[in-house]
Parts: sequence; C-alpha cells; structure tokens
Amino acid sequence: MKKLVLLGGGYGNMRVLRELLPNHLPNDVTITLIDRVPYHSLKTEYYALAAGTISDQEVRVAFPEHPNLNIIYSEVTGIDLDQKQVLLSGSDPVSFDELIIGLGCDDKYHDIPGADTYTYSIQTIGEARDTYQKLNNLPANSIVSIVGGGLSGIELASELRESRPDLIIKLFDRGKTILSSFPERISRYVQNWFNMNGVDVVNEANITKVEDQLLFNNDEPVHTDVIVWTAGIQPNKIVRDLNVEKDKQGRVILTKYHNIPNYENVYVVGDCASLPYAPSAQLAEGQAEQIVTILTKRWEGKELPEEMPTIKLKGVLGSLGKKQGFGLMADRAITGRIARILKSGVLWMYKFHKG
Ligand SMILES: Cc1cc2nc3c(=O)[nH]c(=O)nc-3n(C[C@H](O)[C@H](O)[C@H](O)COP(=O)(O)OP(=O)(O)OC[C@H]3O[C@@H](n4cnc5c(N)ncnc54)[C@H](O)[C@@H]3O)c2cc1C
Repeated sequence: MKKLVLLGGGYGNMRVLRELLPNHLPNDVTITLIDRVPYHSLKTEYYALAAGTISDQEVRVAFPEHPNLNIIYSEVTGIDLDQKQVLLSGSDPVSFDELIIGLGCDDKYHDIPGADTYTYSIQTIGEARDTYQKLNNLPANSIVSIVGGGLSGIELASELRESRPDLIIKLFDRGKTILSSFPERISRYVQNWFNMNGVDVVNEANITKVEDQLLFNNDEPVHTDVIVWTAGIQPNKIVRDLNVEKDKQGRVILTKYHNIPNYENVYVVGDCASLPYAPSAQLAEGQAEQIVTILTKRWEGKELPEEMPTIKLKGVLGSLGKKQGFGLMADRAITGRIARILKSGVLWMYKFHKG
C-alpha cells in the first residue's frame, strides 16, 4: 500500500480529502491525516469565537470517516524530507510515500519587542479560546487594543463592539485610512461603521514596543487592558524550519505542480505555500483541487498538463458585526446587509458540504 500523509486538517487538506475520498482514491493508497486538534477548525470564524458571539461548537467540523483514512491526533514537531518521515511529539515518527503539508500560519511580530509575550492571538483555536476568556472576563470600561486593521482586525473589533458595548475598543492600523488598499467606497463605509459604533480607529500607527498592558505607538505609551495581535502572519514554524527555498514571506517556493523542487512527492498547500495571491481559505481550497489532479495523474502514470490553470478566486467578504459587511466580488465593491448575508451564506454552504 502507498501512504499519503496529510499534515494539518485545515481548509487545504479538507478539500484534498473531499476530492479524494469519494472518487479518486486508488485501492492501493491509504491516507493518514495528522492534526493536533480532533476536528476541522473553522479559522475564518475565530474572530467571532474570541468576541464571544458564537459558541465553540460552531467552529468545529468533524473529520470525514473512510476505511482508507487513518487519523492521528498529535503535534507535528518536524519533517525529514530525505528520510520521508514526519516527527511527532511523544510518539513514533510516521513515514510517508507522499506528503501534503497544510499546517497554516502563525502570527508575525515583525521583531517588535514584547509583541509575542504581551499580546493575545486569534491564530489557532486554542489561542482564540484564550482570547475569548480574557476579553469576556474584562470589567466594564476596560480598554482593548487590536493591533492590525486588516480583515481579521476589523472583524474582531466590530464583533467585539456588538458583544461588549461597555468596552473601549481601539483599532491600530498602519494606513492613512482603514483598508487603504481597497476601493475608497469600502474604506469610507468601514470607517463610518466604526465612527457610528464607537470604535476608535488609530491611523498611521507604528507599534514600536509592547509591555504588560502598555502599547507604544510611534514610541508614545498607550495604556490598555488587553492587546490582541492581528498585524501579520507567517508560515507555521515547522515549515519555517524546513531547509528549502522560501519567498520573502517565508512561504515555500513550489513547482507549478505544487510540489517542493527536488521532492516530487512533497506538496505544500495553503498559507505555507508561495502563490501569487494573499493567503486565504479559498486559495487553499483552489490549490488543493489542483494538487489532487496532479496526485491522481501521477498515481495513474499519466502525463501532467503543460501548464496549470490559474486558480480562480471569488473575492473577499468581511463582516461588521452580525448585520453589516463589505466585500469585493468580481472587482465590484459591495457594502451593507447584502455583503453580510453573502458572507453568512458562504459559511453555511461550507458547513453544509462538510457536514
Ligand atoms: C480571523 C480570520 C478571518 C479570516 N477570514 C477569511 C475569509 O473570510 N476568507 C478566507 O478565504 N480566508 C480567511 N482567513 C484566512 C484563512 O483562515 C486561512 O488562509 C486558511 O485557514 C488557511 O488554510 P490552511 O489549510 O493553510 O491552514 P489552516 O486552515 O490554518 O489549518 C492548519 C491546520 O494545521 C493544524 N496544525 C498546525 N500546526 C500543527 C502542528 N504542529 N501539529 C499538528 N497540527 C498542526 C491546525 O490545528 C489546523 O487544523 C481568515 C483568517 C483569520 C485568522
């Protein structure tokens, strides 16, 4: 039997399973999925988990069951590409014939002193739970600072506003205006929402140091009760430690067939892969579909396509609490209730297909 090992049961590898298990898995291939968490976690909803507006159960989806699928719940501690082995904490290494690395990303702290020690995170389900506890145990009128005005910072700030109207919320953003790379209409809409809902957006922020309950913005100290970090990501530490070629963001440079150069049997999917787009769940899923096509052809000994098609992305949708949202669909700006309904619809469809 050939052994395909999947590291991480996130958006990328869940799509691999969804494509392979019902239709394309040859009888002589077994799959081993390894994840530290015993379910697929809906990372795109961690902001709501941290804010306390959805329950823990709502961000969990059961892994599929199949006679040729074996699941190991363990912490991956390393990968030996040459020995074809995955190292696990507290148990024997797992060998592979083919490997798909889909371990997602970690926070990036840009070498800002104290940022990793004194800030909370929503990058893993465990960290989002810790952040939920900290935020929701705060007494009235506490100050929460969210560093990073990208999609997850905006979603967290707005959701927390609806969850805890008594808190003082500050959102620190580097840009002159919030979402400065988006069309002006979206940027204005989001800023208006924050103005109307009493979230203080601090533009042109430059966090230089973090201490316990103290944030230094352009070297000026800002007292705050809790700081949440949403100001950047980098590939998972296991991937950062791999001795292979990476791009400027530390993501693994791949061949057009999504495998590591010189390792035809090792693929990287999702946030750890160097692709010509910003990392996202939909990108991970689109790439996973292509990996399944390549894997299947290689198993069948068929020729690979000369070029791989471009991965099609549908757009971006962000929420502003439970009723409003914004987005870019096919380069068209959308704002308001319709954007929020679309976002909820996407999540519903995702859960429906996985359920
Ligand atoms: C708040 C927030 C909102 C977002 N909103 C959107 C959105 O609206 N649309 C969108 O497209 N994208 C969104 N994203 C980005 C999206 O979540 C990621 O791009 C996507 O999850 C990447 O998928 P992946 O398969 O690479 O990894 P992930 O989905 O992150 O999965 C990684 C898996 O690896 C496991 N793992 C990690 N390290 C180890 C280890 N050492 N040992 C064992 N297991 C391990 C984890 O438990 C996890 O199951 C959002 C992200 C955040 C944080």
